[in-house]
Amino acid sequence: MLVINNGTVVTMDDARSVHFGGHVVIDGTRITAVGPGSWSSPSAAAAAEVIDATGMIVMPGLIDLHYHTAVGKGLCDHLALWESLEEFWYPSIRALDADSAYWAAAASYLESVKNGVTTVNDMYRRLPDLARAAADIGIRAVLSNDVALPEHNLDTLQDNKDAFDAVHGLGGGRIQVHVGIEWLPLASPELLRDARALADELGTGIHVHLNESLTEVENSKERFGRRPTEVAYDAGLLGPDCVAAHCVWLSDTEIALMRETGTHISHNPSSNAKLGNGIARVPEMLSAGINVGLGHDAAESSNNCDLFEVMKFASLIHRAARVDASLQQAPDVLTMATRNGAAALGHETGYLAPGRKADVILVDTRNVMFTPLAPGNADQIYSHLVFAANGSAVDTTIVDGQVLMRGRTVLTMDEALVLREANRALTRVTDAIGWGR
Ligand SMILES: [Zn+2]
Repeated sequence: MLVINNGTVVTMDDARSVHFGGHVVIDGTRITAVGPGSWSSPSAAAAAEVIDATGMIVMPGLIDLHYHTAVGKGLCDHLALWESLEEFWYPSIRALDADSAYWAAAASYLESVKNGVTTVNDMYRRLPDLARAAADIGIRAVLSNDVALPEHNLDTLQDNKDAFDAVHGLGGGRIQVHVGIEWLPLASPELLRDARALADELGTGIHVHLNESLTEVENSKERFGRRPTEVAYDAGLLGPDCVAAHCVWLSDTEIALMRETGTHISHNPSSNAKLGNGIARVPEMLSAGINVGLGHDAAESSNNCDLFEVMKFASLIHRAARVDASLQQAPDVLTMATRNGAAALGHETGYLAPGRKADVILVDTRNVMFTPLAPGNADQIYSHLVFAANGSAVDTTIVDGQVLMRGRTVLTMDEALVLREANRALTRVTDAIGWGR
């Protein structure tokens, strides 16, 4: 039993309850109590590990809804999406060996854990190696393959099925495998139909890049005579088990198709901005009733795995573009990064309540990021989390009741070893593809 006392508990529950000087109690993998005041029980006290959260915010772990393990970053930061894919990303993920995949995933998940991310929705290759890294560090990971048509020499649906058979449900259920589709320019309506059939056969979800750039929209109209979401809809790919990433250039019709099918959208504003892809129509998505979560996309496009930074982008970019400071207020943005992500993946996480899975983080307020801070002001807590903080304020990360990081020290992996091996993995991959020669 793990007892967290004396914290500012930001539950993100239906009432958005905040308990100052509150408690969260974890038994095994689940939360058993949340509320104001300190928790104590004479009978259980002896067996409990107690964390004193004085000066800390206790809140649900962040959910990174669109994610790729990264083997490199900072290598082609001036290129547009398609060029960066062709120049580095596809060659690098074709050259991955088992060790490179493992250490790239370990370094990516390590960075996420240090930034308070407890769940990643990771589309990449060599899923069994990613699953080993996820199991070793203890993060919750939904993995999917980069499935494309065979001529692109990435993954096939059979690869994705094999990965499902090999690792789905490992780590006490923390590791899941969904069906991934890289994106429409490397796919066909038939491949999308087959992906839907495989997901239904396996009883699992789907992860797809959709409508990320104007060139993708043009490519889709040219090859299929329709916009990307219309192609996905006609192929039956969309649905309440499907996370569509980006969705930057949705038409009104495409928004209606997303709504009709109950498809979840991962909004990835920093990636979209950096790659010059534009700004998604998030206000229209939300007023249509679509569930929208947040993702960093990949370190190749966002250069870090800090979802606090993504939250700030997810507010400011829309205010700037619409000349409207009322958009994307802090509690709503935090909801996107927690509850909405959990809902998109069908997970029992995303808010703190008895019975929910114990994915919990502690954010330290005893630093300049959170200063000044008036006592007992919940609105200011939300604002500081979204607008003032970055991931370095995260002190403790707990997944499934297991403490992965405490006092910013990761307990489940040797951080120095991960950094060293991740650098070696990049060198192996760049040597293999002749990068920089
Ligand atoms: Zn992506």
